[in-house]
Order: sequence, then structure tokens, then C-alpha cells
Amino acid sequence: MPSPGPDFFDEGDLVAVLTTQPLDRLLDYRAPEGGCHAGAFVEVPLGPRRVLGVVWGPGKGGFERAKIRSVLRVLDVPPMRAEMQEFLRRAGEYTLTPMSAMLRLATRAPGLLDPPSMRRVYRRGHEAPDRMTDARRRVLQVLEDYGGLAFTLKELSEQAGVSNSVVKGLVTQGAVREEESPRDAPYPRLDPDHAGVALTQDQAAATAALCEGMRRGGYGTTLLRGVTGSGKTEVYLEAVAEALRRGRQALVLLPEIALTAEFLTRVEARFGTRPAEWHSGVTMTERRRLWKMVALGGAQVVVGARSALFLPFQDLGLIVVDEEHDTSYKQEDGVLYHARDMAVLRASICGAQVVLASATPSLESWVNAEAGKYRRLDLPARFGAAVMPRLAAIDMRAEKLPAQRWISPSLQAAVADRIAKGEQALLFLNRRGYAPVTLCRACGHQVGCPHCDARLVEHRFQKRLVCHQCGESQPIPEACPACGAEDRLAAVGPGVERLSEEAAALFPQARIATLSSDLFGSARALKDQIEEIAAGAADLIIGTQLVAKGHNFPLLTLVGVIDADLGLQGSDLRAAERTFQLMRQVAGRAGRTEREGTALLQTFQPEHPVIRAILSGDEEGFWRAEAAERQQAGVPPFGRMAGIILSSPDMHEAFEVGGDLARNAAPLHRVGAQVFGPAPAPIARIRGRHRVRLLVKAPKGVALQQALADWVGRVKGSAQLRLTVDIDPQSFF
Ligand code: ADP
Ligand code: ZN
Repeated sequence: MPSPGPDFFDEGDLVAVLTTQPLDRLLDYRAPEGGCHAGAFVEVPLGPRRVLGVVWGPGKGGFERAKIRSVLRVLDVPPMRAEMQEFLRRAGEYTLTPMSAMLRLATRAPGLLDPPSMRRVYRRGHEAPDRMTDARRRVLQVLEDYGGLAFTLKELSEQAGVSNSVVKGLVTQGAVREEESPRDAPYPRLDPDHAGVALTQDQAAATAALCEGMRRGGYGTTLLRGVTGSGKTEVYLEAVAEALRRGRQALVLLPEIALTAEFLTRVEARFGTRPAEWHSGVTMTERRRLWKMVALGGAQVVVGARSALFLPFQDLGLIVVDEEHDTSYKQEDGVLYHARDMAVLRASICGAQVVLASATPSLESWVNAEAGKYRRLDLPARFGAAVMPRLAAIDMRAEKLPAQRWISPSLQAAVADRIAKGEQALLFLNRRGYAPVTLCRACGHQVGCPHCDARLVEHRFQKRLVCHQCGESQPIPEACPACGAEDRLAAVGPGVERLSEEAAALFPQARIATLSSDLFGSARALKDQIEEIAAGAADLIIGTQLVAKGHNFPLLTLVGVIDADLGLQGSDLRAAERTFQLMRQVAGRAGRTEREGTALLQTFQPEHPVIRAILSGDEEGFWRAEAAERQQAGVPPFGRMAGIILSSPDMHEAFEVGGDLARNAAPLHRVGAQVFGPAPAPIARIRGRHRVRLLVKAPKGVALQQALADWVGRVKGSAQLRLTVDIDPQSFF
């Protein structure tokens, strides 16, 4: 939709500028010498400062004209496109986010205000240094880790944690090269016809359907459903190729940084060169380069984390959301948006195709496909000889297990059998650390976080107790912090670290690898370890949810789920869905090549409908039952929800304001919405702030955002009160 109004302003015309400053209104300025385009990125004076902004449209006027200041300068980047303005506006309206915050999301590239120029950069040189020091080794390691990327002096020394002189010393030695390079060069071109695989019949049919959508042009969303290993990636890479052939850009969103490394290599194999990357691990220089090149068409394919959705694509033709059910697509702080939903919004505005790929789609997408809003394509079989693993329950009520042990005799026997055959086994437990509870056997005290209502989790490898909410970390105490008794603290319950200990005792000959996000210093170290394991460096893998996602372990033939009931206990409306997805993902790790895989689920409730659905593999049946239940309850995706969190260091204030909101909910009642609460949030205190929740439930199709804005707009709290509205909440902590 084109923005109304002229698209060029002459010098002196009044223009309305949206800045990144939290002002919540547009400011009038005069167009600078030479005029400016609508959407131009500009630098404007604001009080004594100069700030970044975008020319949003014609100025409103109404002020004393003489007082209106001029735009200082127009930045040398392409103006924001009308469709991007529209996207930010609609996304901001949907998530009830001020436009200044939306603009900050869209300009997350430091140095945009810097003039384009040459800059001095540093790369790996050919010589070896005369003498290797620790600091020097770190510098060379950083250069190696980023394979050929150039760094500025500041970036390189910061990444390596050394002083500039260390880098300069390496330059003198020829071990690091110093060169002038233009800022922000285009990325190498990807060749859509570089290499391809011979697709199976199902894959070819799905590919044809997606490419047909690309050729037709315009918006459309496809749910690409296929078991792990069925070739979804191969298929959507063909859609990427089609976008490239049509001269359009493609964005592939992945849930986790750890996934991109393996993935980039795969893209390179298909298209001859690596795509541009956008995630938190990318250097500042690269971010700015990518931001500019995406706007200029010098980056054809971006692989990135959810915030890549807000990059200024010149002509975005395809958005792939891989593992679309993944919970990390919901941004849980700052601007609370769901990347999958925003991808669909963005595509519908810019006329792009969306591919939502998953082995276990979210109920939302399943329902949208059933309703005909999304097209659905299925890849029913695994590629090649690989077959889906055999699934079975281990009924824990019948197993004889000593206290403080979690691997049942049945599971132990199965693992021993695989190890004896030279195959790999995986034990899955979705709990980081050594033990979730540290209990004093003298007084019964459970060691908690001083800032949160959460227990501290023992991390024995690090010898610390850690709060998984706020990150508080302290040495493991020798005496109970409550009663002072010494040597009476006991670890209760299992985490992966403890499971490793148990496994080491049961399988003394086995090589055991423990994979948990907190055990690795960097995504790089994790990736290396995963590659080694995939190549056979371990007999037994012990892991958290990290291993459930996308990694390929060809030798793996047995998966043991230590506690399949773990996710079923929550009061979360998506507990069943999440458990179902996670268990199926984990089970999908087994038998990805010719050897048949088995997944064994330890459970105390084998007759639970979710456990039964997982075991029987009757996915459609599970979704239908789950959908019926949600429809009955009028909850998403059949009704709408919003969470309100009030937090304050003062508990009374949070409750008072919450109560006040609940009593004065006329704007909500007018649209047929109900309010529940206030109630203490499940985690009632985080970082010293007391948290109170309200939950809003509304029928589908009402103007909920407007009603919410009217409702919370009246809140008058002290400066320390914070109010957050979470539209379509995914978690309820
Ligand atoms: P998914 O994304 O559904 O998990 P992938 O696309 O990763 O599946 O495919 C699983 C494995 O099978 C990958 O190693 C992939 O390269 C391989 N594969 C899939 N389809 C083909 C094909 N038609 N020809 C060759 N290899 C394929
Ligand atoms: Zn804490």
C-alpha cells in the first residue's frame, strides 16, 4: 500500500519525521537543501542532540513556522520504502508498540550515521608470528573463527580481548594483514543453478508447487510439513533458487544461532557461495554492511534470527520460517512480537511468499491450513532408506529404580546394547544443570534466588548455583544459608549434568558427551563439538532441548527420554502441544540413516492422551483433538488472548493498579473481552520486581488492540511501575 502524500519534498517544505527517540509522535522539520524523498533516513536536531529519523510524510504544521528547525542532512542510504513504513505501522499497532521502538528495530545497524568511506580492516596474514603468546593466539583464533571476515581494529581487539598493540604487533610480523577496503561491499552473487540434488517424487511435487507460487507473484503462505529428514530444507532451497531467478530477495529465518553454521555450508553447496548472515554473533561492521546491502540489492539471501524481519529489503520475494513451531520465534522482551506472524504480515504487504517448514507445526498453523488460509504441502517419508524410529513407552511404575537414579533398567539395557554394536545413543532431559533443587536436610530450606521467586539450580561443572531467571550466580555454599548447618545440603532431582554422572557409573567404558547450552563458551565451540559427535566421537550423548533441533547424528539409533511427563505438568495452555512437538523432534534424532532407530519414553502415565498420541504417531488425530479442546475453551487460535504484566519494586502498587484495571474494564467489555486477575505471576518476583498478571480473553475477530490501548492508557502509576502488554502470549511466567 503506497503511503499517502507526495513522495518528494522540496527544500523548506514541512516534513513529519519519526525518530528513534521515545517521544511517541512525529516531529515537524523543514526539508533540507536539495529536498528529500518520503522515507528518507535523516539526521535531525532534537534539543541539543542530533538523532536518527525517517521522513514519514508531510508535516502537520500548526506551530510557529519560524521555530521549526531544518533537517540536518539526508543519509546516503536508500529511503525507507512505503511498504516498510506500512509494515512497521501495522506491526506496531498489532503489538501495541510505540513507533519509535519499531523504528529502532528497523535500524539495528550501528554506524548508519557514518559517512560511506574507506576503512582500515584486518584479516589473517600469511606469516606466523615469531613468538606465540596467549593474547596473540586469541587474535588469530578470532580471525579463524570468522573465516575470512575482515574486522576493524576496535572490533578485533575487543573480540579477542586484547589491546590494540597486540594486533599491531601481529601486523608488523605479517601474521595479520592491514588493508584499506571500501565499507559495505556487496555480497558475492548466489547462483540458483550452481548445484542441485535429484529430488524424490514428493519433493519434486512440493518444489513445483512452491515455485509456481513464486512465479505467480503476490502473497501466499504455505505450510511445508514433513518428518525430520524428509527433505524440507532441500525443497525450500529450491524456492529460494526460484526467487533468485526472478531477481528477488529471500530471507530464511532459523530459530537458533547454533543451527546457522551447518546451514550456511549447505546453502553454499547449493548456490556456490555463502549467504549474508544476521544474528547476535555478527560483527558490528558486518551488520551495517548487511543492512545497507539488503536495501541496495547487494545481498540476495539473508539467513538470520527473527530480527532479520526488520531489515530494509529492496524486493523481498520469499520468507522461509524454518521450524516454525519453535518457541524462540516469540521475542520475550523489548518489543513482544512473534516472528512467524510478523513474517506473514510483512509478506502480505510486500507481495512475497512465505514457507513455514516444520515436522511438528504449531496448532495455529495447522488450523490456518485446515481453514484454507495457508496452502499445505506434505513430505510424508524420510529421504532414502531412513525410516521413522520405533516408539515405545517404558512404564516407570513397573521399573525398579533406587532413589536418586533416573535411568531405568530397561533403558540401561537398550543403551548397553547399542554401545556394544558401535552405535550411538542419546539420553534426553530438558533440564540444564546438575539438580533443580538444593535442599538443606537439617532445616528443609530450599536455596532460592535473592532477587526472584525461583530456586537456584546447581551447576556442578561450574561449581555454582545459578538462577535461570535473572542469571544470579553464587558459589555452592558449604553451610545452609538459613540454619547454618554444615555439609547438610543435598541436590534433589536430576539435571543433565547429574544424568551424565549416573551414565558414567552405569557405562564406565562409554565415551559420554554432555550437550547443554550453558556448557559451551560460544556457538562455535558448540558447533565443533556437535560435528565431532556426529562423526562418532561419542558413544552416549546426554542433552537438553538443544539436541532436539535439527542436528544430524547419523550413527544415532537410540533415543531415551528420561522424563516424558516433564512438560505435561505445566498449566500452560500449550503444554500438550509443546510436549508432543518436543518428544517427536527428539525421537526424530534416531535412525536418520539406514539403521533403524528406536525411541524409548520413560513415563509414569503411559495412558495419558498426549503420550499415547506420541507413541501411536497419529499426528492428525492429536491435532484434531487438541484443536477441539481449544475451540471448546475459546482459547487461541480460536479466541484471542493478551497478557498484562505489572511490575514494581512495590508489591502493593502492582496489586493496586492491577485491581484498578480489573474493576474498570469497560473498554474491554464493550468488545466482549473478559479480564482475569490480578494474580501474582507464576514467577512472582524477578530481579527484585514484584510481578502481577492479568489475562484478557476475547472472541476472535474483535478490535482487541484498540480496546486494550484504551484500557491500559488510563493507568496512572508511579515512575517505577512498568506495564507490559503481551499480545498472543506464548509463555506465562
Ligand atoms: P529436513 O529439512 O526435512 O529435516 P533435509 O532437507 O535436511 O530434511 O534432508 C535430510 C537429509 O537428506 C539431508 O542430509 C539432505 O541433504 C538429504 N536429502 C534429502 N533429499 C535429498 C535428495 N533428493 N537427494 C539427496 N539427498 C537428499
Ligand atoms: Zn534470580
